[in-house]
Amino acid sequence: MDVATSVAAIRAVLRQRGLQATSARIAVLQILSEGHRHRSVDELRSDVLTRYPAIDPATIYRTLETLELHGLVVRMELGDKRTRWALLTHDHHHLICRNCESVVEFDDELFHRLAGELTRRYGVQVEMHHLVLRGLCATCALTDS
Ligand SMILES: [Zn+2]
Ligand SMILES: [Zn+2]
Repeated sequence: MDVATSVAAIRAVLRQRGLQATSARIAVLQILSEGHRHRSVDELRSDVLTRYPAIDPATIYRTLETLELHGLVVRMELGDKRTRWALLTHDHHHLICRNCESVVEFDDELFHRLAGELTRRYGVQVEMHHLVLRGLCATCALTDS
């Protein structure tokens, strides 16, 4: 999906996945399509309600889970279980520092190669759309040793 996707395009995407185009689903997808950014549920809720005050805020989390199940949105858990949500516009991955929680985003090239290798070796079609790996960032690794 493109940045600032139109409602008509969102309806079409939902239909493609066999999902009903409810106003909550449209609203969540539209807000998430505006900029490639991972947002917390609280942030999302307030953005959705500002624009669509008629939407029941209690439905937003469930909406995200449904959209995730259908591969439209992805989540990223930060260290203290704060979850960030984003539209899955393209496969990408994250490295999160377990110490300072800084997040690095990187594209799919490396894992694309790894997935190909795993398929060759084990015959498994690996689905790697959004991996979140933990480790120590360069700064924290320096002070850790
Ligand atoms: Zn992501
Ligand atoms: Zn760090």
